[in-house]
Amino acid sequence: AGLTLQSAVQGAPADVAVIVPSRPQALAVTYKDLVAEVAAFQQKLAAIGIAKGSPVSIATVNSYEFIVSFLAAAWQRAVAAPLNPAYKQDEFEFYIDDVKSAIVLVPRGAYAAQSPAVKAAQKFNAAVAECYWDAAKNEVALDVKELGQLQGKPAQPFLTPEPEDIALVLHTSGTTSRPKVVPLSHRNLTRTMRNIQQTYQLTPADRTMLVMPLFHVHGLLCGLLAPLLSGGSMVVPSKFSATDFWPDFAAHRANWYTAVPTIHQILLKNPAPSPLPSIRFIRSCSSPLSPTVFHALESTYHAPVLEAYAMTEAAHQMTSNPLPSVGKRKPGTVGLGQGVEVVILNDAGDPVPQGSEGEICIKGENVTMGYLNNPDANATAFTASGYFRTGDQGKKDEDGYVVITGRIKELINKGGEKISPIELDNVLARHPAVAEAVSFAIPDEMYGQEVAVAVVKKPGAKLGEDELRAWVGEKLAKFKVPKKVYFTDVMPKTATGKIQRRIVAETMQKQEG
Ligand code: ATP
Ligand code: MG
Repeated sequence: AGLTLQSAVQGAPADVAVIVPSRPQALAVTYKDLVAEVAAFQQKLAAIGIAKGSPVSIATVNSYEFIVSFLAAAWQRAVAAPLNPAYKQDEFEFYIDDVKSAIVLVPRGAYAAQSPAVKAAQKFNAAVAECYWDAAKNEVALDVKELGQLQGKPAQPFLTPEPEDIALVLHTSGTTSRPKVVPLSHRNLTRTMRNIQQTYQLTPADRTMLVMPLFHVHGLLCGLLAPLLSGGSMVVPSKFSATDFWPDFAAHRANWYTAVPTIHQILLKNPAPSPLPSIRFIRSCSSPLSPTVFHALESTYHAPVLEAYAMTEAAHQMTSNPLPSVGKRKPGTVGLGQGVEVVILNDAGDPVPQGSEGEICIKGENVTMGYLNNPDANATAFTASGYFRTGDQGKKDEDGYVVITGRIKELINKGGEKISPIELDNVLARHPAVAEAVSFAIPDEMYGQEVAVAVVKKPGAKLGEDELRAWVGEKLAKFKVPKKVYFTDVMPKTATGKIQRRIVAETMQKQEG
């Protein structure tokens, strides 16, 4: 039981599942109403021919209609393919073509406005439908504008998903390579949901403030699906807002949230709410959380901060620091495997001694069966003994806690000397005049690669290249001192606040001309 997204929505019928702060006329949706709404939407999808394996792209912001259409597609054995609604035309075209969308769901008004998602759908003959909350009818509408390739397709029966059905396809972020399509089955997703439920001991009494986008695994699995399995609830604003976050959190009595470090840092820049709400825990994931931010969060919000480690191919979570009642938190580490086996392997695929660095490799029911239409990537994605290669460099410390030291593809290789960009970022971030620092490799005649760094200064702060080099030289070996320092006003980032070193490197080199 509980192996599909249909059987894993487990709240009590009368309990609240979803709270949408921007929709005062129907603020709280119970599990009973949510399940009925999803079934009604599934019926609408079946009626226009959506069947097992049909890719259903969802290009709407976080909303009740996103949740309903996502679950309905999965329940109908179709494949949900969420897309960032802020994409530009070229991006929509790339993703819609890549997953061969049968239908693209867009917000109300998008069709008349010929939004980029609509134009991209038309280009590849996908159906286009507006999906929105219809207050008059008290339901989530599926307003079909064009049938595209679904034209003439007979209505499909109402289906029931199986654990091995692909429920979701998402692309990796594209941090180190062109984004790859990752299929995730109901079994993969429900395994992660149960792992997350166990790690954080989620119960029906828990309510999360869901501010991560639902078009990536972080928001989808930890913010939405794990709470639905636990019978808890979620507050769902359309996007993260630094000014609304704590008022919504307090007004709707949330008690935990998960976010990327960028969001934690934005919150820390604003005054803490008074009185402080009671926060059971704060989870950080998807990018390295510096120990400085970890301590600032714990002392500001009087809550344990649990850093986790996740990736799209693992249907999100692999490791996490434990709750205080379970074990100790170690800042600078991503904790222990959580229902996922984690090993550190050398290039030959053999385990390294404890404390030594190697590639972080994983095994578990949550892990994807392999990339779609990408035999090259699949040929190297798994070891002979079936471990998935994360592409991350790391080690286990004396307590078995995993420490990530960098992306294998992003390690700076200075004449054979490997330099962790994360270690360098953390040292730079501790300088009082530095707001943000990102290290990366630049080509070098002598060493092959040299160390470069892009730095955003704190407003009004004075800082020169030599002072920055001296700071690093005091704390790290001489070969890690950056040769090249780029000062910049903004650091390029992805929609989820992820740093793409590759993009930062390109942007800095271009800016310089
Ligand atoms: P691509 O695979 O296309 O290069 P990506 O790896 O950024 O993109 P995601 O699946 O979104 O795509 O991100 C997973 C990666 O995020 C992990 O492999 C790891 O490098 C990084 N990551 C996740 N959590 C943490 C964390 N707590 N600390 C450091 N890095 C993390
Ligand atoms: Mg990756």
